[in-house]
Amino acid sequence: MLRSLTARLSLTLFLLLLGVGVGLMFLVIHTSTLYEQEVSQKLNKDLAQQIAQSETLIQNRRVNEAALDQLFHQLMIINPSIELYLLDKTGKVLAFSAPEGKVKRSHISLSPVEAFLSSDAKFPLMGDDPRSLDRQKIFSAAPIGSADDLQGYLYIVLGGEQYDNVSQMPGHSVIVDSAMWLLLVALVTVFIAGVLIFFRLTRRLRGLSSAMQKYSLNDITQELPDKNCLKGSSGDEVDLLCRQFYDMAGKINAQINALKSMDNQRREMIANVSHDLRTPLTTMRGYLETLNLKRDQLTEEDQRLYLETAIAHCQTLAGLVEELFELARLDSCENILLSEAFSMSELVQDVVQKYSLRAQQKDIRLEVNLNPDVPLVNGDIAMMQRVLENLLENAFRYTPPGGCIRVRVHNDSGQVNVQISDSGKGIANDEIDKIFDRFYRADNQRHQSESTGLGLAIVKRILELHGSMIHVDSQLSQGSTFSFQLHTTPGASV
Ligand code: ADP
Repeated sequence: MLRSLTARLSLTLFLLLLGVGVGLMFLVIHTSTLYEQEVSQKLNKDLAQQIAQSETLIQNRRVNEAALDQLFHQLMIINPSIELYLLDKTGKVLAFSAPEGKVKRSHISLSPVEAFLSSDAKFPLMGDDPRSLDRQKIFSAAPIGSADDLQGYLYIVLGGEQYDNVSQMPGHSVIVDSAMWLLLVALVTVFIAGVLIFFRLTRRLRGLSSAMQKYSLNDITQELPDKNCLKGSSGDEVDLLCRQFYDMAGKINAQINALKSMDNQRREMIANVSHDLRTPLTTMRGYLETLNLKRDQLTEEDQRLYLETAIAHCQTLAGLVEELFELARLDSCENILLSEAFSMSELVQDVVQKYSLRAQQKDIRLEVNLNPDVPLVNGDIAMMQRVLENLLENAFRYTPPGGCIRVRVHNDSGQVNVQISDSGKGIANDEIDKIFDRFYRADNQRHQSESTGLGLAIVKRILELHGSMIHVDSQLSQGSTFSFQLHTTPGASV
């Protein structure tokens, strides 16, 4: 029942207010009593003095019984709440205005009386109540006789027993009762306001909790729940918590989506690998089986042709397996292991050299444009050679006879830029984003035995390991330009 934060806060507030209320109630009663006593004692400060002056209560060290009787009688009528006592100078009670047996003390302590008579008395001042052995009450007192010849004291208890009877009756004070009611109303109002405030404050927390619950129950990659906890908020802690939850949920979704897409890619890749391995294997087996079964019926020329075809498929298989291994190896690297400073121009020259014969055979113009002031770059030479070979391989594959392939190396704002352009068939706009995917091949390329769809994926991964990216700019039937940039070695020149 007390699980909700609002209920707990409300209960805490209730207990707090109850404590404060009880404390204030006692404080009100106590201070009002003290105030009442102070006022009463100040008002009656001179009462004993005036009575002592108007009557001769002790004469020749003997109590004037007649004067006392008359005084007691008068005061009983005028003010029944006060009680008179006649004391000798040691505090012994000589006479009193009370029925026999009511007075319990025979001696009254004189120190409060002396404090009362001093000039710096602070009220309310309590003195012994002769009608009880332990009770103290406010009083008025006056000495009888002169300073040289002190004969005793007139001691008047203000608020005697009759006063007590009235003051202890329930509801005797309208002021105290009103104060109590006011206090009660104020505490109830504060409590209701507090509960409403807690309810409002915890509303956004409830919103966040329900969003979290929805998120954990639903399919995790679906849309995030409404941002109720953020509505109308102003950057406080709840707001921060809410934002952090949505950030975290967003990241979890993104990671799950990435994992799903990686899983899809992996499945696709396995399907592609199986397909690409099976096709040459089946063809190869077909030719070899035919050769085995019909060797006697085949001419020598056919036998040679069958064997050559089987060997060609075997080479395709070997090439595919090698590229797969290479990609797997590159995937497992986080950084290039062998990094050294080398001249990109020299590497390009060496690689292009290997393709010059092929260019002649295919009737393709192969141009190299090397800027003389290109600085050294940092990287793995073997890997860079692989990048150049793959790009040139594609350029030759997709450029028809009579076309042109250009390789350019130049200095580009502190980096070395390498461009390989061809005047080949070009790439359609909707394909450009896909050509770097593993096993992606243009439709008309699928059945080409030398095409694996891994060449550009290898290029992309090698450049990633070098902290670079491959860019492509292409137009259908016009040609394509592949380019990338490499960091130069600090302080190095050619
Ligand atoms: P492969 O060339 O073995 O098919 P790649 O990963 O090297 O695999 O290339 C993927 C696809 O990108 C190719 O099938 C082709 O459609 C396209 N492509 C790559 N280079 C070029 C180019 N220079 N001109 C036109 N298309 C290209």
